[in-house]
Amino acid sequence: MAHILDGNSVRDQIKGECRPRAERVRSHAGRPPGLAVVLVGSNAASQVYVRNKTKTAGELGIYNETITPDPSITTDELLQLVRVLNLRDEIDGILVQLPLPAHIDSQKILLAVAPEKDVDGFHPYNMGLLATGRPGLRPCTPAGVIEILKRNNIAMAGKSAVVIGRSTIVGKPMALLLLEENATVTVAHSKTPDLAAVCKNADILVAAIGRPAMVTAEFIREGAVVVDVGINSVTERANAERIFGAENMATFEKRGSQLVGDVNPRDMARLASAYTPVPGGVGPLTIALLMRNTIEAAERRTNLC
Ligand code: NAP
Repeated sequence: MAHILDGNSVRDQIKGECRPRAERVRSHAGRPPGLAVVLVGSNAASQVYVRNKTKTAGELGIYNETITPDPSITTDELLQLVRVLNLRDEIDGILVQLPLPAHIDSQKILLAVAPEKDVDGFHPYNMGLLATGRPGLRPCTPAGVIEILKRNNIAMAGKSAVVIGRSTIVGKPMALLLLEENATVTVAHSKTPDLAAVCKNADILVAAIGRPAMVTAEFIREGAVVVDVGINSVTERANAERIFGAENMATFEKRGSQLVGDVNPRDMARLASAYTPVPGGVGPLTIALLMRNTIEAAERRTNLC
């Protein structure tokens, strides 16, 4: 039987560790850690993400505010808003929710966030710290993957790890974090020939692709640890039946759609020694790591570490 790597319990552990750290900042600095979230536009998914982030911050004793400028805001005006947040002493973390509207230069905005307040860990300065093995704010989703592996006692040192995907948000930092844990890392992407054969060599296979259930049995070595970062929604019945099996359609029937990762869930459960389910695997960890980054930024800024 494969071991299910339960993201909810690891999330709860991390949140439990965050509370006393936030309290320590408050008693040391006379104020709690502070997080500012900038949300431009009315993207429904972004609104849900932001609500969940600020709700969790509140639960953990992190001061938070959500800034919702008019959607017509220009790049220059948004830059100015970020600069003001950079200067505000009680704000330790700044998160600009992506995607920004098409008329805004997202790269310019992300570059303007002060690296010491970049709690998403996307700034080239923080990426550079990661690449050169120095402490710094790490991107939340891949850092969450490392936590889930460590806290389930999954050895990474000396293991062969394959990461499918090379995005700045997930794939690249994931590869660097696995390297930091002394895994032997291969990064695969859309131009990798014979992808299945490359993946079949992996002791640890991380899929961060954004293609529903693309990774199937021929990619997975028997006994491998499989981490499925993907979050996709399947809305077509025939697709859902192919992925989940005709006998497992209850959720789809009820909702008219169903979440699936980048890995075929039945193949993963059959072949892996341990795996992260979707939902309930990597997904819950991203917000917990964002909170930990905010507290870490506050600790550094108030000379607590
Ligand atoms: P992304 O920026 O679209 O990157 C996708 C990567 O997958 C790219 O590097 C791309 O290769 C590669 N790829 C695409 N099609 C491929 C194929 N057929 N074969 C091999 N590689 C292929 O996506 P992302 O932001 O990294 O996100 C990846 C997935 O993770 C998505 O499902 C997203 O929803 C999910 N996600 C989850 C969380 C969470 O909290 N759990 C957080 C972030 C993202 P090229 O570079 O060659 O184009």
